[in-house]
Amino acid sequence: MTKPVLAIDIDEVLFPFAAEFRQFCDGRDRVERSLEQLVDYDFDLWAGSAAESLELVHAFSRLDHRLVAPLDQARETLAELRGQYRLVIVTSRDSEFEARTVAWLEHHLPGLCDDVIMAGNRHTGRSYRSKLEVCRELGAALLVDDQLHYVQEVARQGVPAVLFGDYPWNQMAELPMGVRRARNWAEVRRLLAGERVHG
Ligand SMILES: [Mg+2]
Repeated sequence: MTKPVLAIDIDEVLFPFAAEFRQFCDGRDRVERSLEQLVDYDFDLWAGSAAESLELVHAFSRLDHRLVAPLDQARETLAELRGQYRLVIVTSRDSEFEARTVAWLEHHLPGLCDDVIMAGNRHTGRSYRSKLEVCRELGAALLVDDQLHYVQEVARQGVPAVLFGDYPWNQMAELPMGVRRARNWAEVRRLLAGERVHG
């Protein structure tokens, strides 16, 4: 029987992007930015031009990140979930960074991910796909993502979602229907324990 697909984001779900990117920016960039602005990918909010901001993100993304550990309990939880689900990484990182991304995943989560989809994003000017589009193509049973707009978008179209983390940028008084919050991987494991999500 085909396993249901779990679509899993990378940045802030598996990889601590904000913390690492902030360190990278220190000393390189005189502009003080809040964590929310760093992670929002809304470059219009940033001081400096959008092009400069994007170039900083891309310069960071070109680095070898294998020394950066994944978020706590990500590996153990994915190893457990793998028996029940097909685990597909769905990231809005640009395909330019695919080799680096796959190298990091293989280093820290070896053999755990069934596929990696680099959906891209609107900032690069290149073609990209929305997470909703990708989730539909995959027939995803669930999306795990830290960004409110992605989980809202997929949940509205009937794909259940887990809003990952308890971050400044993903606060909401009441979660939309079809969205549950898990503050960390231990909570994802508890949410899905004993639950058979059908694809
Ligand atoms: Mg993310």
